Amino acid sequence: MPAPFALPALPWPESALEPIISTRTIEFHYGKHHKTYVDILNKLIEGTDLADLALIEIVRRTAKDADRTKVFNNAGQSWNHTFFWESMKPQGGGKPHGKIAELIDADLGGYEKFIEEFLEAGTTQFGSGWAWLVIDKGKLAITKTPNGESPIYTTAVPLLTVDVWEHAYYLDYQNRRKDYISGVIENLTDWDRVNARLAAA
Ligand code: MN
Repeated sequence: MPAPFALPALPWPESALEPIISTRTIEFHYGKHHKTYVDILNKLIEGTDLADLALIEIVRRTAKDADRTKVFNNAGQSWNHTFFWESMKPQGGGKPHGKIAELIDADLGGYEKFIEEFLEAGTTQFGSGWAWLVIDKGKLAITKTPNGESPIYTTAVPLLTVDVWEHAYYLDYQNRRKDYISGVIENLTDWDRVNARLAAA
């Protein structure tokens, strides 16, 4: 769907991720932060050559373009947030099943090692950014990106992400970023969605 972009509906009620992510955090994170990225993006691309493109194409075309950093930042953040909301569900998490479980065992040394490495990626992303589980040339990998960047303009296909910007956790966890990431990845991950993304990759 081309511009102007609407703020996509959340896949669950704002209170559904309690107590891992509070209603208040979702109200601010989705209703203020995510909405603002979408609103600014719409203003920036209105009447330009980007206005007829799908969001993911805007991200790809403006990545690495020093003249369009502001568009990229807001398009990237718009895409990343929707992908993040859709990576989670109430009563999610636990050990994965299906194809993703097989690949985590084969490529990442098992679920416990996956958790350990994902936490490492998320906690060592200095400043704002994102931690990702991706599939790159047939093999799973854990990566991290700063600010509004993502794997979608690389060879890697994202399967799962956690937002590690302070605005994602500060109301609930203050400086305890690791506790937040651990709470999300172990209790909210929508493994059915991850398997569907893997099948489509
Ligand atoms: Mn965010």
